[in-house]
Amino acid sequence: GTPTVSESPLHPRRVSRRIMVGPVPVGGGAPISVQSMTNTPTTDINATLQQIAELAAAGCDIVRVAVPSQDDADALPIIVRKSPIPVIADIHFQSRYVFQAIDAGCAAVRVNPGNIRKFDEVGPSICRAAEDAGISLRIGVNAGSLDKDLYARYGGPTPEALVASALKEAHMFEDVGFHDFKISVKHHDPVTMVETYRLLASKGDWPLHLGVTEAGPAWQGTIKSCLAFGALLAEGIGDTIRVSLSASPVEEVKVGCKILEYLGLRQRHFDIISCPSCGRAQVDVIQLANEVTEGLKDITAPIRVAVMGCIVNGPGEAREADLGVASGNGKGQIIIKGKVVKTVPEDQIVPTLLETARQIAGEMEEL
Ligand code: SF4
Repeated sequence: GTPTVSESPLHPRRVSRRIMVGPVPVGGGAPISVQSMTNTPTTDINATLQQIAELAAAGCDIVRVAVPSQDDADALPIIVRKSPIPVIADIHFQSRYVFQAIDAGCAAVRVNPGNIRKFDEVGPSICRAAEDAGISLRIGVNAGSLDKDLYARYGGPTPEALVASALKEAHMFEDVGFHDFKISVKHHDPVTMVETYRLLASKGDWPLHLGVTEAGPAWQGTIKSCLAFGALLAEGIGDTIRVSLSASPVEEVKVGCKILEYLGLRQRHFDIISCPSCGRAQVDVIQLANEVTEGLKDITAPIRVAVMGCIVNGPGEAREADLGVASGNGKGQIIIKGKVVKTVPEDQIVPTLLETARQIAGEMEEL
């Protein structure tokens, strides 16, 4: 899951300053990282570590854990020590937990100075502690928790209101000489979200953490995230992303990784090209495509497999793939790099494709 591509073929990246989240650079042209957040109680250390391992295996670069209580703060040292990826503590209100998270070795803390009690008094020492530990912070502005004054002044969580809130928070850190932070300005509506990030991007060089917040269940949330992240990343805006779904965080990571892969911002893994099928199809393309995708989901080599329903367009469309099948007449032509290598009966199409795909993926990985 290590990101290896930092430049978009679509647009030069916005120039942002670089911060570090443990060993993962964010901003300053670094590859765009994928984040998620555990949904286990942080106090349940084993369950949290188990979920972090699953997230890391799915391609997650950075994980965030919620720290709403003293017991959660107490769980941080072990979680940090055993996590294979950098851990960010998500803290509201209590400066005490921020210090604890820093001591625990968290790679970063998500904390808004505006909601820390008595920031005037504790702010400078929080920033000093973060600096001494070499960790970064994140300001996270959310439409749902916009402060009342700004809500009233702008008549709601408009892009201008969210950006004003972010700037206010950013200045609180900058006024005490702290600059190693990134910012998110999340909204549930993709259009408002895009407008908000565009506006914020024009105001300074902070690295930006993209998120459509409360995006909904997997299907709706995936579409909203693809649209909003796609629009911004295609303009070069965004340094790290978190897809928020009312679903398993592993799903968030899969969507995040695929968004980056399909935008050319992360090296591709296995991908399937399959036709929609039409009246010409002589096999059940949908079933074939699903079986091939399921059978190859663990492949990490950047192999492309094409599943085409007929031999009219099949061979041509399969030519661009590493491996493909064009079906017809109860048989499937197996095509490797554009050449028909054999013809197999229909019931042998899936096993032949899976076996051949694994051979090709193995050869790719040896290189
Ligand atoms: Fe139809 Fe054949 Fe094209 Fe599939 S490959 S959509 S079956 S014409």
